Amino acid sequence: MIDKATVDRILDSAQIVEVIGDFVSLKKRGANYIACCPFHHEKTPSFSVSPAKGIYKCFGCGKAGSAVSFVMEHEQISYPEALKYLAAKYNIPITEKEETKEESEARVKRESLILVSEFAQGYFSRILYETPKGKSIGLSYFRERGFRDEIIKKFQLGYSTDERTGLVNAARSAGFNLDYLVDSGLAVKREDTGEYVDRFYDRVIFPVHSISGRVIAFGGRTLRTDKKVAKYINSPETEIYVKSRSLYGIYQAKSSIVSKQKCYLVEGYTDVLSLHQAGIENVVASSGTSLTTDQIGLIKRFTTNVTVLYDGDQAGIKASIRGIDMLLKEGLQVKVVLFPDGEDPDSFSKKVTPQELVAFLERSEQDFMSFKAELLSSEMDRDPMQKARLVNDVIRSIAVMPDAITRAVYIEESSRKFNIDESLLQQEVAKVIRQNQIELIRNEERREWRSTTINSSENIAALTMPEKRKIPDFVNDTYCEFAERELLYYLLKFGQHKLYLEDEMYVGAERDRELTVAQYILTELQTDELELKNLLYKNIFDEYFKLKEHEQEQIMRHFLNHPDKKVSELVAGIIIQEHNLTIKHFIQALVPEENILGKFVPKAVLVYKSKVAEQANSNLCRALGEAQKAGDTELQKELMEQIRIIMQVRNTFARELNRLTL
Ligand code: ATP
Ligand code: MN
Repeated sequence: MIDKATVDRILDSAQIVEVIGDFVSLKKRGANYIACCPFHHEKTPSFSVSPAKGIYKCFGCGKAGSAVSFVMEHEQISYPEALKYLAAKYNIPITEKEETKEESEARVKRESLILVSEFAQGYFSRILYETPKGKSIGLSYFRERGFRDEIIKKFQLGYSTDERTGLVNAARSAGFNLDYLVDSGLAVKREDTGEYVDRFYDRVIFPVHSISGRVIAFGGRTLRTDKKVAKYINSPETEIYVKSRSLYGIYQAKSSIVSKQKCYLVEGYTDVLSLHQAGIENVVASSGTSLTTDQIGLIKRFTTNVTVLYDGDQAGIKASIRGIDMLLKEGLQVKVVLFPDGEDPDSFSKKVTPQELVAFLERSEQDFMSFKAELLSSEMDRDPMQKARLVNDVIRSIAVMPDAITRAVYIEESSRKFNIDESLLQQEVAKVIRQNQIELIRNEERREWRSTTINSSENIAALTMPEKRKIPDFVNDTYCEFAERELLYYLLKFGQHKLYLEDEMYVGAERDRELTVAQYILTELQTDELELKNLLYKNIFDEYFKLKEHEQEQIMRHFLNHPDKKVSELVAGIIIQEHNLTIKHFIQALVPEENILGKFVPKAVLVYKSKVAEQANSNLCRALGEAQKAGDTELQKELMEQIRIIMQVRNTFARELNRLTL
């Protein structure tokens, strides 16, 4: 942890033009600097740096942020790492915050486990290259499989002989604590004799690297064909290796994933190696287990486009279908390449030239929907039941997508593909979304119910499940997005400015109180119990009101240099939006901004509230339609009453908005 004072010093010293100038050649253009964007391919520069604002923004790909976020993005490193980089550049000594005894012990322990793992990696490599057995068995195996030396080196492959204590002995004489060898999963302590023995022996070795390139685990492949010997063994979970949070190859792949904006997902170690050897470096492996949310999160740090490369056999297809729905749920764009039956990316790449492989990947890559469609296409024409099943399957996949616009695009496409009415598909997707949500609510209620009834077993009546009926709230955060962004704009840029309200409601009683823009927005939202729907926006909003700083400039700096890259990027984007309508008004009107704020902030709040009301109304109407179909008269009555109230609210907003605009 770097202490706050040092962080401030670093941020004060970092000149954005100097920092970015180390990576990109900048040309001066008026008050700003321009360059070709380092984050996407372009021929004419649309990447702009403003020294005055301390912000960069690419008008081509939309990437934006501060000096710190530039370093994070460009070098793919974390916030503290970027700060340390800048501290080194500006010769600022770093004093790390004191950690607790437990924290420092855990850190030292983790570091020791990594060190012993890195020692083991070096040991396995030495065996591979320098011993007769290593050379004649291990190295010749890799070479026979067609792996070139540069790949063997790049992935730090190794070999362990059939000696049961080779690594243990080497680590002992190098002075390592053997318990750390056990805790890092490399050795096992025999219960009966207390002896230490190696976990990996008689195998070729694949080290697993963390995202920053440290060795955290190993996989070992036997060279024996004996079916009784497990083909691969892997490190167990340890303090440095959480399997569900690691991906094989991520360290070697990350920069290529960013520049290609795509990540290939394969099953095995050898698939990763073969693709690298063919020049395809944006590839990671799930290593035989099914994909986890954390692993997907790891990919999402670099791109939202994933192409799943799986074996064309039954098991491969099944595994890829499972993986696809997980990826869709996390909001990723998913494509699939199926290899010919019995081929994995590794074996296939050995049969063709690198150029042919690239061409094959491009040609065979299909959208997840075409993939699903193709799986059943032969039977589809003949069997209407098959078609129905397939369409339902696609509908379920669309329903888990978190983004409404993406859902709409897929609905339109599947309407064409399956020749089914678009509005029918829409209804069906909405139905599944609702079912999923009701399921979610039910599960929560069940959980609540369990935890509350566990201690009150005497209350027999409580033992029946509650049949609460909730009106499902449709997830649709893009609906109000624009209005929410507008609110954030005023909050971030003018939050601490005084607001001179023209609104009658505040005139008189409130005039002397002189609200700030931030106070006004907060009060208005609280009055109607509203919370921003976009989670990122909501987080920024909540954080704003927790800040200790009260200087507009300090607040701005806090968000622009935010540790969460998503936040700093968004804030920079919002602030730099000079085409923003309201700004134009400032310039045209040439009046003090306070006067303008008094008009535009209330208007932005009203626009936002109207949007919320509009959406609530359309959700209620949809629910009413369902209730009518289901013949549930009681629910219908309830919904009608709510619709009536919402209509009134909407009208009030519309009237006020009208008055403000006049
Ligand atoms: P090879 O080409 O050397 O046979 P592979 O990568 O094609 O290796 P697969 O049998 O396709 O091997 O398995 C894919 C991945 O699943 C492996 O890379 C490994 O990560 C994992 N795996 C396979 N078998 C085992 C096993 N017995 N125990 C644990 N993991 C395994
Ligand atoms: Mn294979």
